[in-house]
Amino acid sequence: MATDTPGSQSSLHRANLERVLRAVRMAGSLTQAEIARGTGLSAATVSNIVRELKESGTVVVADTSSGGRRARSVSLSGDAGIVVGIDFGHTHLRVAVGNLAHRVLAEESEPIDVDVSAAQGFDRAEALVDRLLQQAGFRPDKVIGVGLGVPGPIDVETGALGSTAILPGWTGIAPGRELAERLGMPVHVDNDANLGALGELVWGAGRGLSDLAYIKVASGVGAGLVVNGQIYRGPGGTAGEIGHITLDEAGPVCRCGNRGCLETFVGSRYLLGLLSTTLGPDLSLPGVVELAHQGDLGCRRVIADAGRQIGTGVATLCNLLNPRRVILGGDLADAGELVLGPIRDSVARYAIPSAARQLSVVPGTLGGRAEVLGALALVMSEMDDSGPVGRSVQASVARP
Ligand SMILES: [Zn+2]
Repeated sequence: MATDTPGSQSSLHRANLERVLRAVRMAGSLTQAEIARGTGLSAATVSNIVRELKESGTVVVADTSSGGRRARSVSLSGDAGIVVGIDFGHTHLRVAVGNLAHRVLAEESEPIDVDVSAAQGFDRAEALVDRLLQQAGFRPDKVIGVGLGVPGPIDVETGALGSTAILPGWTGIAPGRELAERLGMPVHVDNDANLGALGELVWGAGRGLSDLAYIKVASGVGAGLVVNGQIYRGPGGTAGEIGHITLDEAGPVCRCGNRGCLETFVGSRYLLGLLSTTLGPDLSLPGVVELAHQGDLGCRRVIADAGRQIGTGVATLCNLLNPRRVILGGDLADAGELVLGPIRDSVARYAIPSAARQLSVVPGTLGGRAEVLGALALVMSEMDDSGPVGRSVQASVARP
């Protein structure tokens, strides 16, 4: 019988194998040269491991070209397992079913009411997961795991949603545990900003990077921080609460109980309040963005001012974490340069020049899908704990 003590040949081999699998899983598909670069393993070792994984049916290898030269791309077999992503938002429920080769096989979104109870929300999610699995032609026992996104901080110790969550009826509920019992599948849960960051890192505007911040501006304001290729959550799970940076001690009272937080100046309720006297009470944030694109001066001014305030928060983030890229998500991101320009102006004004110089501020490329795709990526990144978690690999990944 093979011994498996740390440092033995077989444990080293297994660790290398897991590193290769993880790199391929997080990138979707990689050439053997990219696997070697990303894992630090020699070309010969990678070649041996890929052959072994191919023989066992775990990966598939296809001819491709890389930089004009012929290469072989490695991706996980479509039969290797199914992952499910569920994203609960302020007004929507979105579910996606994908495989480990990064193909989204079925995806659907439906509106939900903000006052929906947790039980009703889970009923809807359960029904949608069942339907999409059927649509994709897979039985529930093929599902390796479920990623669940919720719009609020998750307490690391209890798994419960914090009191500042956007869904008021959900406070104190442990959504991961609840859903795992209902579905009979392992569930990994995280907040929407972290999942947006993971989604853009694996599928979108952050591909190939290892340090970025995803800032979601919608009803609330939050950030997902990727440091060294991993989501940084902090010991309590509340890292990235950029919306609660104090801008004005005498400012409006925030839902967190503090005053003058960034969120009280750029959250959708505040922005809509500024425009309700001139444009009426039925306005939505997407509506404001559309009017701004059409040239409405009031909407443009409100969006530009929000951008300047967000930029103040981004400048602080830059000075602390020095990310390579800040990706803007949420409804406000659709304003494009109308909001990105003022964000960049504030960063240039308030961040340390050396931190700002390397930074690019861009809109997300996944739109409203960032969180649900991030939920799929969460399952892939939590699949095993060995090896360098979430190591960033330069990759040429097929778009979802
Ligand atoms: Zn606050």
